[in-house]
Amino acid sequence: MITIANGIILKDSTLTPLKENILIDDGKIIEISKDILEGEIIDASNSIVAPTLINSHTHIGDSIIKDEGYGLSFDEVVKPPNGIKHLALENAEDIDIINAMKESLNEMVQSGTSHFIDYREGGLKGVKLLKEASKDIPIKPIILARDNLFHENDPDLKKVKIAIRKLLKVADGIAPSGFGEISQEVANLITEECFKNNKISSIHVAETVKAQNNSISKHQHSEVELAIKNNFNQLVHFTNPINNDLNLINKNTNITICPRANSALSCGIPPLEKLLNKNLSLSIGTDNVMVNSPNMFRELEFTFKTMLNSSNNYINSKNILKLAMNNSLIKNKSFIKEGNFCEIFISTRLSKNPYLSIINRCETKHIINIINKDTIINK
Ligand SMILES: [Zn+2]
Repeated sequence: MITIANGIILKDSTLTPLKENILIDDGKIIEISKDILEGEIIDASNSIVAPTLINSHTHIGDSIIKDEGYGLSFDEVVKPPNGIKHLALENAEDIDIINAMKESLNEMVQSGTSHFIDYREGGLKGVKLLKEASKDIPIKPIILARDNLFHENDPDLKKVKIAIRKLLKVADGIAPSGFGEISQEVANLITEECFKNNKISSIHVAETVKAQNNSISKHQHSEVELAIKNNFNQLVHFTNPINNDLNLINKNTNITICPRANSALSCGIPPLEKLLNKNLSLSIGTDNVMVNSPNMFRELEFTFKTMLNSSNNYINSKNILKLAMNNSLIKNKSFIKEGNFCEIFISTRLSKNPYLSIINRCETKHIINIINKDTIINK
């Protein structure tokens, strides 16, 4: 048994700050109260005790080409199959990809992240490489795979279906790049097979104005319309909605925004204030490791400050922090509540406002402990 004592905990899904102790046994939160003090004591005086973070969108594979491609166009950097990212991944040795991914995974753990949803390139082998990289690191990858077949012109749909089924045996879901790269038939096969197997289907939408315009000319629908029509579970980016896009989304579909990546690739700023005002499953991710470190503190601060700069309204910092602590697609991830798994990080309290202490000031060096179920990572 472990007691985390004397910290300010951010309790429940409301992240209510309370000075209480937490008793943990067998990886679960047994009791939260002012006076419980049993087993090993972790002193959290002058600290904040918060749920670990979820990075809802990454491409961890491109850890091998960090900061390469700066100055090139969006398509030259990340568009499959000839963006420098894809060429680099194809030409790299497996061991180099694994080692680069391990570096990023360790950086994520040390900055409070316990779960991440990754768009894994490279088919079955790509999934295997990430599993190999993460096997000894206390972080949970949710792996969304793809096959190069998806992105071919006029692919054989029977072969596509077989490829999807094979991927779903080892991966948590499927994520093609976007509607610029796949046909609607392929999109439909992906979402159907994911639904049947209770797995996640995810796709990039409305990342660039150009992609949205191309979608209208080619399919007479925006990328968001196509994604909703095809029943994808997660829409990533939503940076440049057009026409009726904002009205189409509802809480059955997770929207994941990536403001830092959008800025790094000159794609615009997602309409976060409008999204926050809707009753949505809304999350945040750091996207390509080649342009961004996978550190969620950096993403949170950038997002919060960008919003303050672009809005005249009061922005609730708690709602910004929640973007990194909640994703309806990850079923077992817990808030700090009796009966839940213990997935928390303890960080130095750097200001009286616990939300702003994390968003504005927390860095990796301020994390004192991370407790991920039974694994205690003392730093
Ligand atoms: Zn992405």
